[in-house]
Amino acid sequence: MSTLLDDDERQLQQSVRTFMDKRVAPLVAEHERARTFPWELLRELTPFGYVRGWVPVEAGGDGLSAMMQAILMEEAGRTWGSLRTTVNVQGMVARTLAGGTAEQRERFLTPMLDGTRFGWFGLTEPDAGSDAGALKMRARKRGDSYVLNGSKIYITNALGSDFGVVFARVIDEDGSDHGVTAFLVDSAESPYGCYDIPHMPVRSTTSCELTFDDVCVPAANVLGEVGGGLRLAMGAVNIGRLSMSMGAVGLSQACLEASVDFCRKREQFGKPIAGFQLVQQMVAEIATITSTCRLLGYHAARTLDAGEQGRYECSMAKYYCGESVGRAATLALQLHGGAGLMEESPVERYFRDAREATIPEGTTQMQILHLGKHLLGVSALR
Ligand SMILES: Cc1cc2nc3c(=O)[nH]c(=O)nc-3n(C[C@H](O)[C@H](O)[C@H](O)COP(=O)(O)OP(=O)(O)OC[C@H]3O[C@@H](n4cnc5c(N)ncnc54)[C@H](O)[C@@H]3O)c2cc1C
Repeated sequence: MSTLLDDDERQLQQSVRTFMDKRVAPLVAEHERARTFPWELLRELTPFGYVRGWVPVEAGGDGLSAMMQAILMEEAGRTWGSLRTTVNVQGMVARTLAGGTAEQRERFLTPMLDGTRFGWFGLTEPDAGSDAGALKMRARKRGDSYVLNGSKIYITNALGSDFGVVFARVIDEDGSDHGVTAFLVDSAESPYGCYDIPHMPVRSTTSCELTFDDVCVPAANVLGEVGGGLRLAMGAVNIGRLSMSMGAVGLSQACLEASVDFCRKREQFGKPIAGFQLVQQMVAEIATITSTCRLLGYHAARTLDAGEQGRYECSMAKYYCGESVGRAATLALQLHGGAGLMEESPVERYFRDAREATIPEGTTQMQILHLGKHLLGVSALR
């Protein structure tokens, strides 16, 4: 029993874990193999606070504490990386939409909150990854619409979603730049190109390239203010960092549980390998990684709940948890021997999924440079 949680938090953790173990875990292997995702599951997950949690009660959401969200993401990460990634992106889109007009919320947010409509979050471009502010996608005003040109890359679940939030730079014909702006793009109203790029981890998600070639988007679909897009994006990315950190904690926990179980059962030299000192050292290291990462993630969540921005704490958690889960998964695989490399072992998936943790929502290097700027007062970027 975790002494780090209060009674309500512990209750949430237990009920989500029971649901994940009984309802979700049996689905994982088949969907990962087929690279499919059971979207209907989201309708069963939203009552726990998935997707709805980051949306304030006034906007129709649950307005959960960051700590409750951390618990939800830890449990999703312990069960299925693809699910954790999916609910994270849905939560980021929903939170961004919460600041939209009543009409935008009615059309896009309300169905997201009951798990019947799904959205993507389109910031990264082929030439603007870590340097997201350098994005090149253009939006030009024409009458009551904007015409979008450019492309996005690595956009999670754009195949599988029928709308998204895309970030583009509003530029007039005379070249004046009004800044990065968020647009709601409905695939039925404003058709865009969408192509899956097969990828290594979280195989039940899609990772897409999106192309916009004179795509017309109604001006009513501008989300927030013209020029306010980067602020919206960074607000969403900060909670995405907490989500990724806690997903990594859950994945480390899964590595620990699988390793303990395997080492007790697997026998060599006439006894369970659990009795060998070198094996115990690896298991103890996974346990220590899991606990230290959990403390950092919970600390970041408590900082947000104290009303602070928590950028430093979320970056530190993302950096440390993202890197450490790679070590935890490597050790778990080693403990499983040859069995760990077989696709029928969950550890093979843990190892692939752990590799994702250091890249989206800002790479490890970006988190370190953010911490460096905070500590030393000098930006290493520009
Ligand atoms: C599985 C997955 C899902 C994703 N989902 C989404 C999504 O839904 N929406 C979205 O908008 N994006 C998404 N992304 C994109 C993700 O946010 C970017 O991949 C990430 O920000 C890094 O950008 P990049 O890949 O272009 O790498 P680059 O920015 O090109 O970086 C390459 C390497 O250079 C390093 N580097 C760059 N600049 C510096 C510097 N100044 N100092 C030191 N090192 C530096 C980086 O740390 C990295 O190691 C996703 C990515 C992946 C892999």
